[in-house]
Amino acid sequence: MTPKAVPREKIPWFPVVAAELCNGCGKCLDFCPHGVYARDSGSSAVIVQNPFECVVGCNNCENLCPEKAISFPDLEAITEIIRRLREEAAPDLH
Ligand code: SF4
Ligand code: SF4
Repeated sequence: MTPKAVPREKIPWFPVVAAELCNGCGKCLDFCPHGVYARDSGSSAVIVQNPFECVVGCNNCENLCPEKAISFPDLEAITEIIRRLREEAAPDLH
């Protein structure tokens, strides 16, 4: 779904971990094949280290979390942002 004309860093789609809910189980870390998550160097907590490696539209790890600590933005809002960015990147095509 990531459009080639839009730099990934401009698309605010990535998980957010609520640190106060996370129990450090590592399920999200083990599951994601894109290296989005990492262990916090100072604790056993899991952090979102590489947010822009997350695949736009993927939220497969959200339901894995036993503590419901992972959340994502509203996909419709992100889709609208992408649509606008595409228009800005290639106004002649729209
Ligand atoms: S699956 Fe949930 S509780 Fe487990 S490490 Fe990831 S965010 Fe924390
Ligand atoms: S949504 Fe998909 S790509 Fe993004 S962090 Fe979760 S498993 Fe990885």
